[in-house]
Amino acid sequence: MLKFIGVGDLLNQELLNTSAYIKDENKILIIDCGVMSFKRMIDLKIFEDVENVYIAITHMHPDHIGGLGSLIFYLNCKNIKPYIIFPKEDEEQKQAIVNFLFLQGVVSDRFYLIADVETVIFSNMLAFSYKTIKHNETLKSFAIEMSFVDKRIYYLGDNNDEKYQKSVLKKLGENDVVYTDCCGDNGVHHINLKKLAEIYDEKIRKQVCCMHFISDENIIKAKNLGFCVAVMEQSKEEYLKRIVSHNN
Ligand SMILES: [Zn+2]
Ligand SMILES: [Zn+2]
Repeated sequence: MLKFIGVGDLLNQELLNTSAYIKDENKILIIDCGVMSFKRMIDLKIFEDVENVYIAITHMHPDHIGGLGSLIFYLNCKNIKPYIIFPKEDEEQKQAIVNFLFLQGVVSDRFYLIADVETVIFSNMLAFSYKTIKHNETLKSFAIEMSFVDKRIYYLGDNNDEKYQKSVLKKLGENDVVYTDCCGDNGVHHINLKKLAEIYDEKIRKQVCCMHFISDENIIKAKNLGFCVAVMEQSKEEYLKRIVSHNN
């Protein structure tokens, strides 16, 4: 259901920064906008036919928010004033985003701010909320929980939070999907694949989509364990180029 602009970690130049979106009619919800994500959004032409842009930020690391200022300026040039969603219960996070943008000259009349619980973006969406998750001592990170008519999506900003993952597992319905960052065995700020495999039984791993990859090895390991793996979207031009080279 989610499409991916990038699927890499902070420094992954090939897979870019992890960022995703959902589009319905003339509305788009973007989750995170890292330094390397902004240009890719333009290349993929994701704003074609879009009138309303909603942006949800999971946390303040540069691979999740570094491109937000540029994105807002870009949208303003297209006469779009985007909605930035903040956690209603967390004034600190709201202020952090506003200050971050202000310091870049992105003043508050360039965007709307809306609280998560008041956010129902699409006609088939029932609820949207942020939950605080464990990631890093110096920064707060959030998971985004979205209920749709037929499924729930749990999108975890960077995390190493077994407790939250287990709470999600307990309520996971058969149509629901979990999106989570992951890492190799030695990670501290991201949940490692061994831990994920302990939490999610083999038959449920197809509903758990790994993302935020540090390397290709990371992807192969996730696949071999039976997890779903987030794949970067291709532009129409890239897709056609691939077909041509394949046919040759
Ligand atoms: Zn990250
Ligand atoms: Zn992070």
